Amino acid sequence: MPCYNVCVKTETSRKITILLALVALIFACGIGYLGYQNYQLTQTKLSLETELTNTKQDFASTTQKLASDIEAFRELLIATQSDKVSAEQDIRKQKEVLDAISSTLGTYEKLANTDRELLAKYSRVYFLNENYTPKYSITIPAPYTYEPEKEKMIMAEVWPFLQKLLDDAKTANIDLKIISAYRSFDTQGKLKSAYTVTYGIGSNKFSADQGYSEHQLGTTIDFTTSKLAASFYTFEKTASYSWLMENAYKYGFILSYPKKNGYYIFEPWHWRFVGKSLALRLHDGNKNFYDIPQREINEYLISIFETEPKVQIAPLSSSTR
Ligand SMILES: [Zn+2]
Repeated sequence: MPCYNVCVKTETSRKITILLALVALIFACGIGYLGYQNYQLTQTKLSLETELTNTKQDFASTTQKLASDIEAFRELLIATQSDKVSAEQDIRKQKEVLDAISSTLGTYEKLANTDRELLAKYSRVYFLNENYTPKYSITIPAPYTYEPEKEKMIMAEVWPFLQKLLDDAKTANIDLKIISAYRSFDTQGKLKSAYTVTYGIGSNKFSADQGYSEHQLGTTIDFTTSKLAASFYTFEKTASYSWLMENAYKYGFILSYPKKNGYYIFEPWHWRFVGKSLALRLHDGNKNFYDIPQREINEYLISIFETEPKVQIAPLSSSTR
């Protein structure tokens, strides 16, 4: 009996021990598994951290490269823009040079095609060649002339200026008619003979000689009124003459032989086209055409038929005779 009790106790104790051992083993396995899992997680974390660090470094590197590329591109753009501006400036300069050359050529061409006689001063020793005729002449419409049955001719380029003068005068109730315009060498020769017969070789001679040259140009006219007929010398007393004195320069016409001109007798009826620019300067400077040096007058040749007067820089000087 005692053995039975002892034996039972021993058996029980052994089972408990085995059970405890099992429990300990299971616990140890659990701890081990958890430790392994923890190790795995730590490794994964480290790996991810490394990867993140690498990615950050890659990103920083890429960003830096990108910034560097942008800077390089910006510099290239600035350089390109600078080149473009420089090229545009070069083109502009070349265009200015070409324009200047073209303008100079145009001026020479215009001068070459402009008749120098148009602004020439004539004297008793310098007359127009007897073969000279205006390049293009037209017939002045009859209503503008004193004797509609007689054809009057004028240089074609001058007519628009004269027509405007006559039309504006009419609008202002000014009575103006053309009694003489272009006269050929032969016509003037006959007229001069008639003058000589009438007046003798006296006061009218210079005037007839001078007028002859200017009328042969085709740019010069003699005005009268519809009532005065050919009484040239009374023309000075008319409102028509006063209107011409105040306004003719605006249309490019000047009085060739004003009062006390020192060269020829006063001819209030005799007006010559010299272009708006020169007429304006003569008017503003209170100068006479025949008092200005020929070289100064010639500077206005280029603009003689321009419709608007050009402002000239140098004032006109008076010449000595
Ligand atoms: Zn005349």
